[in-house]
Amino acid sequence: MNYDHILIRFGELSTKGRNRKQFVQRLSYNILEKIKDFPQINIEKSRDRMFIKLNGEPHEPIIDRLQSIFGIHSFSLAVKTKTEIEDIKEGALFALKALDYKGKTFKITARRAYKNFELDTNELNHAIGSHLLRNTEDLTVNVKQPDINVRVEVREEATYITCKDILGAGGLPVGTSGTGVLMLSGGIDSPVAGYLSMKRGIRLEVVHFFSPPYTSERAKQKVVELTERLTDFGHSINLHIVPFTDIQVAIQKQVPENYTMTSTRRFMLKIADKIREKEQGLAIITGESLGQVASQTLQSMSTINEVTSTPIIRPLITMDKIEIMDIARKIDTLEISNRPYEDCCTIFTPSSPKTKPKKEKINFYESFFDIEKMVDDAVDRTEKLLITGKKKEEDSIMNDLF
Ligand code: ATP
Ligand code: MG
Repeated sequence: MNYDHILIRFGELSTKGRNRKQFVQRLSYNILEKIKDFPQINIEKSRDRMFIKLNGEPHEPIIDRLQSIFGIHSFSLAVKTKTEIEDIKEGALFALKALDYKGKTFKITARRAYKNFELDTNELNHAIGSHLLRNTEDLTVNVKQPDINVRVEVREEATYITCKDILGAGGLPVGTSGTGVLMLSGGIDSPVAGYLSMKRGIRLEVVHFFSPPYTSERAKQKVVELTERLTDFGHSINLHIVPFTDIQVAIQKQVPENYTMTSTRRFMLKIADKIREKEQGLAIITGESLGQVASQTLQSMSTINEVTSTPIIRPLITMDKIEIMDIARKIDTLEISNRPYEDCCTIFTPSSPKTKPKKEKINFYESFFDIEKMVDDAVDRTEKLLITGKKKEEDSIMNDLF
């Protein structure tokens, strides 16, 4: 007998009704992708649980990686036994004894997915509990607040016993909510917006606007590294680097200074939208937070937003900078974002951008541009890089799947 399985609980997935099968399937692929360098493991799926069979692979690194996979509510190392009461009792005793249990309190929480089992949950709790008490010392029952919760999952094919829950990352499996285009700047906010969108199941395509020679290769490298960090939470990511210099220079020439920022944002949005269309995405994601800077007032956002009817997801819209920075720290993007660099927007930022830009005015200023041609030209010259994260896998199961 051994702790040779990991039992995975889905949380929110359990409520997804008809989509459940697809969710479970996706989660299973996402897990396999993340731990594919442990070739011996295999995954058994059921409606409401998943079981990783370790087959001799070490559990520590696998547990480590499971913690950043969205769609997992919690998971536990598990002992598997036959669904026979004597085996279950022995299994529970083994599972408990493997822990530092002396002086602790415990309870049994049995759950019967197999309703025809000879004992009901109360009888199970009682039978297993007394077996543990009889065969251990210095262990007491506490049903309200036990130190150790011995969970027993009775299924027809096997029974799984766990003593410790590890909290998962929550959310929904990446890929189950469709594709969104993240506008990633290299600042603190947009990587956090990307992470939060992945958490709700969105698969990302990333777009970055790059203005050489005003912005350097170092700035681009930062964005590559930020994208690499995001791959940790799901999948390989296409990074689209859009050459933006010509448009910025044109705006500088044509648009009055206090409206250049508004126009820049509108062009960015239009280009991001074109790339979204090409990549069959359904939404655009930004790191905007209400009132943070001139472009992020409601009036500004409304005037900028005018160029598209595509849904724009702004996960940080109501968050304070401190809250955003806390998440950035947690996901290890803060240090990268904090590196000094020149953003294409900082360089061209006017001294006093309009905080309440008017639609009529910007439409008039932009009427002198051949907007479609400028947008198409930038999209045509966009460089597309596949970022696969630190492990540098050549090909991934995820790519076949999406
Ligand atoms: P961030 O920290 O994400 O840069 P910010 O608070 O600095 O955000 P802005 O610079 O006004 O705010 O940018 C608002 C949003 O516009 C960003 O969160 C990002 O989604 C998008 N954005 C800005 N600059 C770029 C860029 N060079 N490439 C891609 N997206 C950008
Ligand atoms: Mg910025």
